[in-house]
Amino acid sequence: MLTNIRIVLIGTKHPGNIGAAARAMKTMGLRQLYLVNPVEFPSSKAVAMSSNADDLLAEAIVVNNLEQALSGCSLVVGTSARQRKLPWPLLAPRECAELMIKHATTQTVALVFGREDTGLLNEELDRCHYHVTIPANPEYSSLNLAAAVQVLSYELRVASLNEPVNHEPLDDEFALASAEYIEKFYQHLEAVLYRIRFLDSQNAERIMRRLRRLFSRTVLERKELNILRGILVAVTKQLD
Ligand code: SAH
Repeated sequence: MLTNIRIVLIGTKHPGNIGAAARAMKTMGLRQLYLVNPVEFPSSKAVAMSSNADDLLAEAIVVNNLEQALSGCSLVVGTSARQRKLPWPLLAPRECAELMIKHATTQTVALVFGREDTGLLNEELDRCHYHVTIPANPEYSSLNLAAAVQVLSYELRVASLNEPVNHEPLDDEFALASAEYIEKFYQHLEAVLYRIRFLDSQNAERIMRRLRRLFSRTVLERKELNILRGILVAVTKQLD
């Protein structure tokens, strides 16, 4: 299960944090590290901070955008030290770990971390089903990036140890939709909503964020998404 969990670090500035994150992951049995536009990687500073987890650094996949990092993933959780303007479905670290472990029995799931200074952008958080916040000191709530990776990886390990060994894998009938497929659906939905003039350039960003939040709350399954896309195709046919 732990090997189906992908840790995604976006725009990491200090290579030492990448090394320390790899070490944090390896101590907890995680292996899949994706780096989106790291400022400096590969790096000897990363290797030095990884201690003996440089094998994870050697296997790390570097990509240019979050979409590529989420390829093949179903459940996506974003980390945030603070609540955003539009609150998203929020998990505590333990709940987050239990949910991710449950889905990781059959699918790849991702936990996304932000930049050291500015964290995750709103449009990156919009791509996540849930957000998770480590309940830190409210007056000083921002952990070092690798420390946050350690805390959440630890919870994942504990959740995996607690998961019954003969746990029934999730039925494929109810498999979650992949992150790519969900993005395609939002693009399709946006295009159709423009076409029927429900959206315009003034309201599109606000309404699409609300709709993403709405669909994130239900965590869509692949078959449900097929129906929604079928509806969009049928609407488009009526317009042609
Ligand atoms: N100022 C930024 C914090 C950046 S800390 C912000 O408000 O989001 C760098 C990264 O470490 C964050 O993007 C997040 O991935 C992780 N992190 C730090 N503190 C965290 C916390 N309390 N809960 C969850 N993730 C946290």
